Amino acid sequence: MKFADLHLHTFFSDGTFSPEELAGHGARLGFAAMALTDHDSVEGCARMTVACDAAGIEFVPGTELTAEIDDTELHLLGYFLDTHNEKLLTEISKFQIVRQNRIHEMVAAINKLGVPLTAETVFALANCKSPGRPHVARALVKAGLVANLDEAFERFLKKGRPAWVPKAKMSALEGMELIHQAGGLAVMAHPGLNRTDEIIPALVDAGMDGIECFHTKHSTATSERYLQIAEKYNLLVTGGSDCHGFSKNKPLIGTVKLPYEYVEKMKAKISHRWAQMKHRFQK
Ligand code: AMP
Ligand code: FE
Ligand code: FE
Ligand code: ZN
Repeated sequence: MKFADLHLHTFFSDGTFSPEELAGHGARLGFAAMALTDHDSVEGCARMTVACDAAGIEFVPGTELTAEIDDTELHLLGYFLDTHNEKLLTEISKFQIVRQNRIHEMVAAINKLGVPLTAETVFALANCKSPGRPHVARALVKAGLVANLDEAFERFLKKGRPAWVPKAKMSALEGMELIHQAGGLAVMAHPGLNRTDEIIPALVDAGMDGIECFHTKHSTATSERYLQIAEKYNLLVTGGSDCHGFSKNKPLIGTVKLPYEYVEKMKAKISHRWAQMKHRFQK
């Protein structure tokens, strides 16, 4: 059997692995295909393409966007993206700037509580254009200001805690359009984490291509539930570990093994769409 992991992060967002390390783990675990889905970034895709090529792994360029519909947050995965698409890069870079500003806001809120963290320490540790809460948490641990990541999130960073700053979100419809115009497939990430199934019909109407049925934090029952929803709405089925490298526990890569037949279905849909576009262009 061939397997894939279609949800992975590197240090180009809040993961800790380099693309080369990630591809190395994929090779060790025998994956036939891997996707990179860094938050608001496709920057790691170039190195991941080379690393996967060398390891004989099929690479799917992707990203993970934060979106909302009807005031409900969701994460949108984009797959088979043209990572040079200008509109995609322009929009992503806007969200990266918002993320950088958000670091300053979170640090200011933490300082207000008398905890002397500096934004510079966070940026130095993050060393990427797409920093987030995990970088603030790691900087707090590194500076000895909290004992561990859990404490950082519990005291400061979790929703409702004093240094929680909401993230800028694009509308889900805009997010899917952005993914589509970059040649990609738009997929709802880890629906079982958010438990907001009521938004699914509207997303399907707006052209959503798939749903992430298999995820580290989905129980077997949860995966089954979303497989049924996928069937009902004729959605592609995806899955991945959502590995962030070494964070609280050992790396999650290997915990989800998506049968490769689902990747074939994704590729069939992409080829069909591209053929339609070509046909329309020629008319
Ligand atoms: P952000 O995109 O900046 O809002 O950060 C979200 C990321 O923080 C998620 O992708 C997780 O990797 C991580 N995260 C969220 N909640 C926790 C938590 N309680 N403990 C550790 N990491 C968390
Ligand atoms: Fe993350
Ligand atoms: Fe996510
Ligand atoms: Zn993720």
